[in-house]
Amino acid sequence: MIIVIKPDAKDHELQHLLDRLEHYGFKTHLSEWGNRKIIGAIGDERALRDKPLSTFPAVEKVVPILKPFKLVSKDFKKEPTTVNIKGVKIGGKHIAIMAGPCSVEGREMLFEIAEKVHKAGARILRGGAFKPRTSPYAFQGLGEEGLKYLREAADSRGMLVVTELMDPRDIEVISKYTDIIQIGARNMQNFKLLKEVGKSKIPVLLKRGLCSTIKEFLMASEYIASEGNYDIILCERGIRSFDTETRNILDLSAIPVIRSMSHLPVIVDPSHGTGRRDCILPMAQAGIAAGADGLMVEVHTNPEEALSDGDQSIVPEEFDLLMKRVKIIAATLEKHIEE
Ligand code: PEP
Ligand code: MN
Repeated sequence: MIIVIKPDAKDHELQHLLDRLEHYGFKTHLSEWGNRKIIGAIGDERALRDKPLSTFPAVEKVVPILKPFKLVSKDFKKEPTTVNIKGVKIGGKHIAIMAGPCSVEGREMLFEIAEKVHKAGARILRGGAFKPRTSPYAFQGLGEEGLKYLREAADSRGMLVVTELMDPRDIEVISKYTDIIQIGARNMQNFKLLKEVGKSKIPVLLKRGLCSTIKEFLMASEYIASEGNYDIILCERGIRSFDTETRNILDLSAIPVIRSMSHLPVIVDPSHGTGRRDCILPMAQAGIAAGADGLMVEVHTNPEEALSDGDQSIVPEEFDLLMKRVKIIAATLEKHIEE
């Protein structure tokens, strides 16, 4: 980092700062730029976690050289990461498709949807058992019963499970049933939750927050990585804007931008990204064309009766067509869909 010294700093204040930096293990280099003094300091910045340099009287400002996200950055690792979950790969040349209902509503419906999306080529079954509903009176999910159905339905087809964790107190029960823990958009900056999944060894699907910048998104993923869990998949799921025609604005430019900043795989969720059934197919195609490493799509056999997100759920026949189309697009990019 670079530390800019106040023009009126006293010599003993400057010396005190240099001494403390050395004490915390930093190598320092004092130089003068015109009439300004600056210190170049190299060391482990974690040593300064509880000792902000801005509180030192000599300091005008601190300019970090390294990005605030390190482990997930391209500086740390140049090659794209492929997350391998029980043989299903996401990232690099491998595209993985997650599909299923918004919420697990019952055993029968889930088995039927699992069978259909599996037949079309999805290898990961999605479904919420703990639902982050905007209204406290809306269906909140079946809890552990829903998790059991998810596991059984996925196992009946040799699929993986992805489901959302909302509360650190549920991590133990969710971990018994799922292969991927989803952190939803509303919890992207729930740092306690991020640290908790970071300590677990289960791969994490991290969704972009409703109003989060790409940097904030990457910093949230850094929370998970900094606790030792590197199996992270990012998910662009749309951000809030002023237009009410769609539920969110699906930010597809985030795909190449994240690619330029991070080595982590990134997938697209056209369902929450648009909130409109007629937008799912075109935006799924566009997402893969933009370089996404996968898709998360809400599929329901009877969207009109769905307990959540029926407006943005496609039926299995539409999902079939979507899979056919994205396979062709993937092939043109010399990638393939995990089967
Ligand atoms: C979901 O995947 O069901 C969900 C609630 O997504 P998001 O967190 O992106 O709104
Ligand atoms: Mn949903």
